[in-house]
Amino acid sequence: MSHKHGAPSPGEARPGLRADCANCFGLCCVALPFAASAGFAVDKAGGQPCANLQADFRCGIHAHLRERGFSGCVVFDCFGAGQKVSQVTFAGQDWRREPRLARRMFDVFPVMRQLHELMWYLGEALAMPPARPVHGDLRRALDDIDRLTRADADTLATTDVAALRHEINALLLRAGELVRARVPGRKRNHRGADLIGAGLRGADLRGASLRGAHLIAADLRGADLRMADLIGADLRDADLRGADLTGSLFLTQSQLNAARGDGATRIPPSLKAPAHWRPVPVSTGQGRPRAR
Ligand code: SF4
Repeated sequence: MSHKHGAPSPGEARPGLRADCANCFGLCCVALPFAASAGFAVDKAGGQPCANLQADFRCGIHAHLRERGFSGCVVFDCFGAGQKVSQVTFAGQDWRREPRLARRMFDVFPVMRQLHELMWYLGEALAMPPARPVHGDLRRALDDIDRLTRADADTLATTDVAALRHEINALLLRAGELVRARVPGRKRNHRGADLIGAGLRGADLRGASLRGAHLIAADLRGADLRMADLIGADLRDADLRGADLTGSLFLTQSQLNAARGDGATRIPPSLKAPAHWRPVPVSTGQGRPRAR
């Protein structure tokens, strides 16, 4: 799962929230459990090192993850939790040389990942000018979580992350609503909706709520998703060719990496078009290509 394959990561303006695999002991490739699936070719128990993880904590197949059946590793992002656990919580001690610490490290890593993800979302909300009425609350929450991420391993391992997520989610929802209120007209509400494989080609989803929506393999070619709230939306294999995601809310690099797109897909400037997205065919001329 390690990003030694060079996948882009969100948090461009917040370096501490961007995976820095060179300073991590391959925690995502060890700590997390995986069941054999479309995104991960084999079964792996939590705490068991992936067979592809090398002695130097690098992935031995990082250039071939997709074709070898490990596309889930390309999509995964720790939001910088790996290096925080490795270098701050455990002060540079690694689980190979200090096996007595391994279990604790593996317990702390998923907690830290969630805390860093929450900090990333809070940073996003703080960058939204219309959310100014809640910026004070967002800032306080961000500072509190930042402090928590520097606590000792026992404190981190026993943190009630679900309760924290619930609390922060209410703030993020409010921030998103303040932005979406700026979009004129009626906004569609697909919060948590089952839109797997849905035909949404060219749909007007500007300012829509797609929070937690299941959009796996949905056809969103040419859809207008400007200022749509996409927090937690499952975009695996969603077709975003020619879609406009400018100003969409809470969109992560992982979500983009999991989706399909092309050179005509418009994305927020802080994110990068994944390497596997197909470029726009030269023959289509100016403007958006005809969706295929
Ligand atoms: S395949 Fe590579 S990136 Fe994925 S878990 Fe294994 S070592 Fe990590």
